[in-house]
Order: sequence, then structure tokens, then C-alpha cells
Amino acid sequence: MAARVVTVNRDTKPGVYPILVGMGITLKNMVKTMFGRSAATIQFPEQKRNTSGRYRGIHILTQREDGTPKCVACYMCATACPAECIYIEAGERPEATIEKYPTRFEIDLLRCVYCGFCVDACPEEAIFMSRENDLVGTSRAELIIDRDRLMERAKLGEYGPGYRPTDHDVRRPVRIAALERLKQEHGIVPGPPSR
Ligand code: SF4
Ligand code: SF4
Repeated sequence: MAARVVTVNRDTKPGVYPILVGMGITLKNMVKTMFGRSAATIQFPEQKRNTSGRYRGIHILTQREDGTPKCVACYMCATACPAECIYIEAGERPEATIEKYPTRFEIDLLRCVYCGFCVDACPEEAIFMSRENDLVGTSRAELIIDRDRLMERAKLGEYGPGYRPTDHDVRRPVRIAALERLKQEHGIVPGPPSR
């Protein structure tokens, strides 16, 4: 099929009419914004944007009923993480059914790309994301968030949970890839979930 060619006559002078139309649209939007109707901006930080329940904000480590982390230090999230920003050290738990727990679990939020792969890869539903997106710090160290901070997210009530395991079909490829890498690179084959 022949391409449709449009020839634009650039010699025609547009005149002032299109300029006046453009100015009118600008003025109309300015007045709307000034009087608070249809404003594209919000009064941050007093006002927060409503974000989706699948928003990928700062992480949350979930807890068991006794307050200990649900995480079993399997390294699946750290293996799936494309930014390599999760650091875990494992300790042993006394229970026979739960072998390990993280004695250290850190996420470097300055390296994180908020992809959610860690959530997808986790077999225990131990790591979720929140809708919090405005954590600030005065040093790099403050934005490396540790296990206890991840477990006690003071602002969670205000922001609510974000991306979390709800869609198993989407998560499966990430988990399979993480399992494969764990096996190939570290010789680790994680057992079934502890529940
Ligand atoms: S959201 Fe992505 S980049 Fe951030 S810690 Fe999780 S896997 Fe890594
Ligand atoms: S994948 Fe889940 S259980 Fe495994 S180390 Fe990460 S948070 Fe813990």
C-alpha cells in the first residue's frame, strides 16, 4: 500500500488567531488551577497522592504472630534483585520447622530500582512493598534500611500496603529464575515454604 503523504504549505502566514486561541487555553487552565479546580499539582507534603494498591514503594518485612520475621533467609529475593541491593545474613532458629531467620537484612534504597522482583521471588510472602515513596535522609547510610526498620514501618498506616503477592502467574517466572540462579551460582536448593 502506498504511503500517505501530506504536503504542508509553510508559506501561509498563520496570523494572530491561533496565538489568541492558545493564550485563551493557557488563561483558562491558569484560572482553573488558581481556584483549586482540576489542579494538576497537590499541596505536598500536607496532601498525598492516592496511589494504587500495586504501587512499588519502600519495602516491608512481614512478621509472624510472635513478632519474629516471616523471612527464612533463603536468599531468593537477593538472588532475583537486579540492583544487588539486598544484603542478608542468616541465623538458625530453634524450631525444627523453620530452619533459618535473617540476623541481618538490609536494603540499600539508593540502589533499589523498585521493580518488585524481591516480592515476586519470595516463597514465604515475607517481603511486601508499601506506597511510601518520600523517605529522605541526610547521608547515604540513613537510606540503607535494616531489618528492624523494615519490620516496623511507622508510616504504613498513613500510606498503606503496596505491591504484594496476589498474582501468582506473574510471579512464577521470577521465582523460577531466582531458584535456577541460586542452584547454579551457590549450589543452594531451598526447601518448601515453612507454613
Ligand atoms: S524492588 Fe527490585 S531493585 Fe529493589 S530490592 Fe526489590 S528486587 Fe531489588
Ligand atoms: S525471599 Fe523472602 S524468605 Fe527469602 S530471604 Fe528474601 S524475604 Fe526472606
